[in-house]
Amino acid sequence: MSIIKLSNVSKKYSNGTTALRNISLEIEAGEFTYIVGPSGAGKSTFIKLLYRELKIDRGSGQVAEYDLSKLKRRDVPMLRRSVGVVFQDYKLLPKKTVYENIAYAMEVIGKRPREIKKRVNEVLDLVGLKHKIRSFPNELSGGEQQRVAIARSIANAPKVLIADEPTGNLDPENSWEIMNLLEKINLQGTTILMATHNSQIVNTLKHRVIAIENGRIVRDQEEGVYGYDD
Ligand code: ADP
Ligand code: ADP
Repeated sequence: MSIIKLSNVSKKYSNGTTALRNISLEIEAGEFTYIVGPSGAGKSTFIKLLYRELKIDRGSGQVAEYDLSKLKRRDVPMLRRSVGVVFQDYKLLPKKTVYENIAYAMEVIGKRPREIKKRVNEVLDLVGLKHKIRSFPNELSGGEQQRVAIARSIANAPKVLIADEPTGNLDPENSWEIMNLLEKINLQGTTILMATHNSQIVNTLKHRVIAIENGRIVRDQEEGVYGYDD
């Protein structure tokens, strides 16, 4: 069963830049897929459409049980329960503790305090950071911040986890630690979609590779390679 399905999707920014042209693809539940391509190819735009940061202008898209074209603004929080997101720059709330950063993601969808407390401890255990529960983001290393961001992204047990260059600001050792976590989360059944420029990771930890160039899908390989020189 497809958990993500796009048909003839195009996206043009208001300044006239066409970022995506006629994208069609299907991703099965449980897959791990890398999105690769040069800078400016359209990878971030593609990812933003999937968690409804941006609207599709043409074509149709479905993520989990949601139709991206029909989704009302008030339904976006519902979509975000099914789709967790991780960014290159972590995007943790600086004035909240590790506990509060994760709890907040659950509070906004109305989870009860007791369930929140249990789940925050569970996801922090998974990422190996229970001892940092009271720390603030600026008291953590980059690798630790990304692990907290991953814990937050899975707090609501999303079906899909989207990561936009999650290792972009990390050294190789921390990058591999993040990959081990994503791999573990994928093995628990979460579908993962990860945009990356890390050729070593893509070429070592083999998964499906979709390459985007100039807004178009130019390659889609099972157990693919990175395929660029950078
Ligand atoms: P990538 O993530 O592969 O680097 P992007 O999706 O960020 O590519 O960008 C695709 C194209 O859309 C590029 O030409 C970029 O300059 C343009 N673009 C991205 N964001 C915006 C925006 N907010 N407004 C106008 N153009 C944008
Ligand atoms: P127990 O289940 O043994 O009572 P708690 O659930 O109270 O333990 O707490 C588990 C961990 O989460 C503890 O380290 C606790 O200090 C921490 N914690 C609980 N609530 C918060 C909060 N609002 N901010 C920061 N840390 C918290």
